[in-house]
Amino acid sequence: MVSIGIIACEKMMDKICPGCLKCFKAVWEGAGMFTEYDPAELNITYITSCGGCPGFIVNKVGMMRGYGKFYERDVDVIHIGTCIQSVATIGRCPIDLEQVKKKLEEKFGKKVVIGTHPYPP
Ligand code: SF4
Ligand code: SF4
Repeated sequence: MVSIGIIACEKMMDKICPGCLKCFKAVWEGAGMFTEYDPAELNITYITSCGGCPGFIVNKVGMMRGYGKFYERDVDVIHIGTCIQSVATIGRCPIDLEQVKKKLEEKFGKKVVIGTHPYPP
């Protein structure tokens, strides 16, 4: 079983992208950035927001790691949501995706993937 955590844009989550339905669908169908997993072996441990502008992803992942340890629900891979990719490339999100990926990998020793579902924003 591979456990993943997904980080979402706080401004889009449950507003422009309601219920995180698109990421759940992509996980179940093995679409987008989930093609490399076996859907039967994939477990979404959490979907949480970035913490809001100007982007506190590293702090948020640290907080989730603490909860994960306490509840014995750690993750193997962290996905940065397609929502964040969209706002970082066509919106005004201040997050530097490559820099954040590097920082997360160094600090938490986890694989970080940029992107999740393949559907339009
Ligand atoms: S892209 Fe995924 S994580 Fe981001 S808000 Fe939409 S469904 Fe949720
Ligand atoms: S920092 Fe970026 S990802 Fe987070 S809420 Fe602001 S626009 Fe969205």
